[in-house]
Amino acid sequence: MLRAPLLAAARSPRARAVVQQLPPTRALVERFVAGEGLDDAVAVTDELVGAGRRITLDHLGEDTRDAAQAAETAAAYERLLGALKETGLAERAEVSVKLSAVGQFLGADGERVALDNARRICAAATDAGTTVTLDMEDHTTTDSTLGIARELRADFPWLGVVLQAYLHRTEADCADFAGPGSRVRLCKGAYQEPVSVAFQSKREVDLSYVRCLKQLMRGEGYPMVASHDPRMIRIAGQLAQWSNRKLDTFEYQMLYGIRPDEQQRLVDTGATMRIYLPYGGEWYGYFMRRLAERPANLAFFLRALATKN
Ligand SMILES: Cc1cc2nc3c(=O)[nH]c(=O)nc-3n(C[C@H](O)[C@H](O)[C@H](O)COP(=O)(O)OP(=O)(O)OC[C@H]3O[C@@H](n4cnc5c(N)ncnc54)[C@H](O)[C@@H]3O)c2cc1C
Repeated sequence: MLRAPLLAAARSPRARAVVQQLPPTRALVERFVAGEGLDDAVAVTDELVGAGRRITLDHLGEDTRDAAQAAETAAAYERLLGALKETGLAERAEVSVKLSAVGQFLGADGERVALDNARRICAAATDAGTTVTLDMEDHTTTDSTLGIARELRADFPWLGVVLQAYLHRTEADCADFAGPGSRVRLCKGAYQEPVSVAFQSKREVDLSYVRCLKQLMRGEGYPMVASHDPRMIRIAGQLAQWSNRKLDTFEYQMLYGIRPDEQQRLVDTGATMRIYLPYGGEWYGYFMRRLAERPANLAFFLRALATKN
């Protein structure tokens, strides 16, 4: 019931100003975010890699309307990839990029700016010996993001894309993107979407997730199963077996701070388990989407708030 207002608040500058100043916010943010600086990101990556995880790092930020800020975000990714190369972590750690953070919304020229900035990041990833995955944002960006992904894949065929099972279109997109070597992260979807484009109930979204997973597991690409849902994880394992997939031909992915015991269980089975690890000062939108996803997170936040006052 609170999902819609929380997702609306995720886009509201006024709500941002209030939430960022609340005393218990920081403690809860630290459960989901590595820290604000590059050093924090590298230190947590090192620790998780030591515990058998793979990583995809997200330099937090989205919806930029400023060309200089978009260029600075691309530069931050270049510095991050340089640090992963230097520390020897690049073999096990890649990066995730939101195109809206590197210029996609900069008016008529936005797509070209985002493509150029994403190309810089992909070149730095090539130099470091790792990969990039393009995050997916709300449905108004899907065509643009997949179009940019197709262009980038001409030069960087390892580029990963994200598809969101809550969108009606996604089963067809999975079929399109299930070709040889295609890295596709399948998630349920984290934005507030209208009934005209997206399934609304958990049951419908889950059924769509399974149909999409079937496409990807039967295909010739590299499925990345991004979910904390025990049923989806169990079904993914079964579908992989039925498709005769070896453990190194797909992977599981979870968000940092969520279900660490289940992450470890999957590592212990010999599966590849990648953690989505955000860092940076722009944590507000990411944090609000996590509150919207799970009533327990919100309850924890409200309890902490009540205790402080
Ligand atoms: C690696 C990764 C990358 C992502 N990238 C994107 C993206 O680019 N675009 C996008 O729109 N969304 C993205 N998401 C978010 C995603 O779309 C969902 O909003 C989010 O993962 C919640 O969906 P779920 O599949 O975990 O299942 P849900 O339906 O939220 O949860 C189902 C069940 O999972 C278990 N569970 C969930 N959370 C917890 C918890 N905190 N503790 C214990 N159990 C829990 C519970 O049993 C719960 O009933 C990403 C998610 C991951 C994991």
